[in-house]
Amino acid sequence: MDKEFQIVILPGDGIGPEIMEEAVKLLRNVEEKEGVRFHLSYERIGGDAIDHDGTPLPEQTLNRCREADAVLLGAVGGPKWDDNPPELRPEKGLLAIRKGLDIFANLRPAFLYDAMKSVSSLKEEVVRGVDIMVVRELTGGIYFGEKTRETVNGQEMATDKLSYTEQEIERVVRQAFEIARKRKNFVTSVDKANVLESSRLWRSVVDRVAKDYPDVQYQHMLVDACAMEIIRSPRQFDVIVTENMFGDILSDEASMLTGSIGMLPSASMGDGTFGLYEPVHGSAPDIAGENIANPVATILSTAMMLRYSLGLTRAADEVDRAVEEVLQSGVRTMDIAESREQAVTTSEMGDQIVAAYRKQG
Ligand code: NAD
Repeated sequence: MDKEFQIVILPGDGIGPEIMEEAVKLLRNVEEKEGVRFHLSYERIGGDAIDHDGTPLPEQTLNRCREADAVLLGAVGGPKWDDNPPELRPEKGLLAIRKGLDIFANLRPAFLYDAMKSVSSLKEEVVRGVDIMVVRELTGGIYFGEKTRETVNGQEMATDKLSYTEQEIERVVRQAFEIARKRKNFVTSVDKANVLESSRLWRSVVDRVAKDYPDVQYQHMLVDACAMEIIRSPRQFDVIVTENMFGDILSDEASMLTGSIGMLPSASMGDGTFGLYEPVHGSAPDIAGENIANPVATILSTAMMLRYSLGLTRAADEVDRAVEEVLQSGVRTMDIAESREQAVTTSEMGDQIVAAYRKQG
């Protein structure tokens, strides 16, 4: 009997359905090559769900995701819903699904394909070979802490509380060490322990967790130093783990080493192997429906799903290599092409990657 997996597909809005089609095309080929079976269930989220179900995250979507091995998401949002009240904004669906699925670690790789080194904003000799995984805590810290506004001595004052429990720190740090074991066994934990109490707790938890991973090397680094080092010497990093706000900023900084937003995948994990996989970019309403969006970020997110949730490492490696070969051969969508004439469509890019994948191994 073939190995079977339940996968929820959430195309979402804008370019979401177009890029998701390419991911599904690839999954059908992985099934054939690996002798596995993917049960795909299409559900609604974001603006699409607001229009059909009156809510950005219908109960049915959340329930199906909870029963699945993994979830693949396109993107949500668009001008049609921009003036909606906060509860009826597409982006509310994203926050709700992360919370509803107990997801707490966001994985953002910054990997530079050799074929793309000229598009990086840094010098080739600095960025060549960059391969960083930023693991960001996703559900705690200052973004979720108590917020207040008050008037003190006639002045308006605002407060955002930054707090972490040991357990919140430990679970994301463990994820980072586990991921390092699948990479180069090196973790950099980033904090601001010279001024923040929450960072001093963070540091002590990292030191304790690290004892369970004697095979993984680790270091602490202050966030300001890390922001500089990512630009000065990015090859020194393997896995970076940090709290929510620092991770928000550092993951965007690291990803820009590698070029276009259309190339950047991400994964969000809870306990165990369940994960939600999505491109970093949004729904790109300016190019939606034109079959010109770059599907690479979604295809690389699919490869992360194969690797981290489904344990299909060989297939994941082959997809990564297929993307590399296609880029190496000069095939480009409009966002990364030198001229409009040179650019291929979304579906042509998907077809080329699938063809290269079929030739691997
Ligand atoms: P965006 O990422 O959608 O687009 C920014 C720019 O990058 C646009 O010019 C777009 O055409 C281009 N771009 C994005 N993805 C591309 C791809 N795959 N191929 C080629 N070009 C691509 O960000 P935005 O314009 O700030 O936001 C548009 C909508 O998306 C908003 O409603 C926003 O709230 C939403 N959004 C959703 C997510 C998500 O679903 N995770 C993330 C960010 C923004």
